[in-house]
Amino acid sequence: MSAPSPAVTCDQCAAACCRLEVRCLTETGVPPHFTRRDAWGAVVMKRLDDGWCAALDRDRLRCRIYEQRPLLCREFAMGGPECLIEREAAWSNN
Ligand code: SF4
Ligand code: SF4
Repeated sequence: MSAPSPAVTCDQCAAACCRLEVRCLTETGVPPHFTRRDAWGAVVMKRLDDGWCAALDRDRLRCRIYEQRPLLCREFAMGGPECLIEREAAWSNN
């Protein structure tokens, strides 16, 4: 596995990873109005029509439920392989 890129920070990113489907695998205290059940009955973060997570502060591009965010969000490594892929995809869509 490659090491996280030290040059990458969330401060210079438009929350690219907050458009991914996020399953709430454990109880972390996510307010229920930010979640929904998917077709398989799993609890997932609700996303708005444009794909952004409903818990994202759209003005500041910061998580509004940072302390209660799902496990998958906690484990998403800044500068890691998935982060770099999402950032690249966000750039190519702009
Ligand atoms: S973890 Fe990566 S993709 Fe997500 S906001 Fe931070 S820099 Fe952007
Ligand atoms: S819960 Fe927070 S960190 Fe996770 S996708 Fe939504 S806004 Fe991003």
